[in-house]
Amino acid sequence: MTQLVWFRNDLRVSDNPALTAACKQGEAVRACFLVTPEQWQEHDWSLARIRFVVDHVNALSDALARLGITLDILEARRFDDSIDTLLSYCQTQGVQHLHFNEEYGVNERRRDKAVHQSFTSADIKVNKYRDQTVAPVGTILTQQEEPYSVFTPFSRRWREWAGDNTPNPFPAPTKMADPVAPNYLSTSLAGYQNAPEPLVSVGEDAAHKQLDEFIEQRAKSYKKERDFPALDGTSLLSPYLANGVLSGRQCWLAGQQALASGENEGLFTWVTEIAWRDFYINILFHYPRVSMHRAFKPETEALEWNTPEGNFEAWKEGRTGVPIVDAAMRQLNETGWMHNRLRMITAMFLTKNLFIDWRLGEAYFMSRLVDGFLASNNGGWQWSASTGTDAAPYFRVFNPATQSERFDPKGEFIRQWVPELARLDSKGIHEPGTKGGVIPKGYPRPIVDLKQSRKEAIAKFQALKD
Ligand code: FAD
Repeated sequence: MTQLVWFRNDLRVSDNPALTAACKQGEAVRACFLVTPEQWQEHDWSLARIRFVVDHVNALSDALARLGITLDILEARRFDDSIDTLLSYCQTQGVQHLHFNEEYGVNERRRDKAVHQSFTSADIKVNKYRDQTVAPVGTILTQQEEPYSVFTPFSRRWREWAGDNTPNPFPAPTKMADPVAPNYLSTSLAGYQNAPEPLVSVGEDAAHKQLDEFIEQRAKSYKKERDFPALDGTSLLSPYLANGVLSGRQCWLAGQQALASGENEGLFTWVTEIAWRDFYINILFHYPRVSMHRAFKPETEALEWNTPEGNFEAWKEGRTGVPIVDAAMRQLNETGWMHNRLRMITAMFLTKNLFIDWRLGEAYFMSRLVDGFLASNNGGWQWSASTGTDAAPYFRVFNPATQSERFDPKGEFIRQWVPELARLDSKGIHEPGTKGGVIPKGYPRPIVDLKQSRKEAIAKFQALKD
């Protein structure tokens, strides 16, 4: 009998429930990864993410080969086709048990349901595991057994649950057989060569090294520094977490162990970010409509967004005339990553000042981010647009110039990404032409009046209530 582990969004050997369970049976184990290029395109996967996935599938293949497990690379165009591809592979290989960790996007769920039906009819047992969150998804509920739609009470319950249950990582399998020759995913996928340079090193070991270094050296100043994009204040672990090279449990445990050796405000705040990740995964699980382009708050569906046109292009390209927005968008376009504070600023600017539909921003971010992750991206966009759970109240609109003065006080981050403004002093750089200094040649005037557009956005939200 052969056990098959289907790797999807969990590209790791350690703390992988599906892999651990398959190896426990004491039978032959194979593994597979399914490439679905058209589906990836439909889901707006960025080149940066595709490159990250290719590199990490290959690193996983090496790690599994050392354990005596062959990883086969299968290809289907879309999820719909992948069911038959997987089934005929299983029949050829004599697979009797399929193991995989659950994913929660609506298309992924539909695919898995179809897999379950066809595999059961073909007498292959399907085993699913809840892997993505610290507390198994769906476990953190209110006293009335309802899902939480506000973060703070969710995180309180989440901490209690983790304290009571100590979610220990699943042990990595020991060697199953003699080492085998690894298979590699070809790097000839369309456009792969044009992807941004990798942001982080490749492999599970590299991810753990980065986690350990962050916890030991930088976590203590996280609370103080995390909002300043010019500083190296956050962990930069998101590409690993979004693609399952690291698990939320491993991050929680590393944070928890360090917290046990002494109170540390920075670390405590950082662990709360892992709770945000779990919160949004739970929202996706309980409210699948959010992954179908629908607002969490149905009444906000009535908002009449502006037609995107030139302003949307200017936002995408980082030439809005609002320096912090432009610097952030250029960072995204060039590196495939953007600092969290800037994600909030650029998303609010698009949805409130330009009054452009959050769905367009969500898709654009996805098409550029190396850490594109449906639950967090959708959650972040709906938060910023005031259409989601725990949303920023519609009347709290960030002023990007004020945010810039607060979180990039010397203009260092702006200077790094918008060289046209490099000569402006730290007072004039946040709003050129307004607080002293002229707008340098070649840099656009602001495409929107920040104060007027803010007022108009608030009025449109207010009208929904009236
Ligand atoms: P750290 O600050 O070191 O945090 C550690 C980890 O906690 C992160 O790696 C991430 O997994 C999680 N985390 C931190 N903040 C959040 C948050 N607000 N929501 C959910 N999880 C969080 N995160 C993604 O992983 N993928 C996305 O596609 C994504 N899109 C976003 C879009 C918008 C509009 C906004 C406002 C936020 C988005 N985030 C997304 C959340 C956050 O910006 C990133 O997780 C963070 O910037 C990653 O950097 P880091 O690893 O250094 O984070």
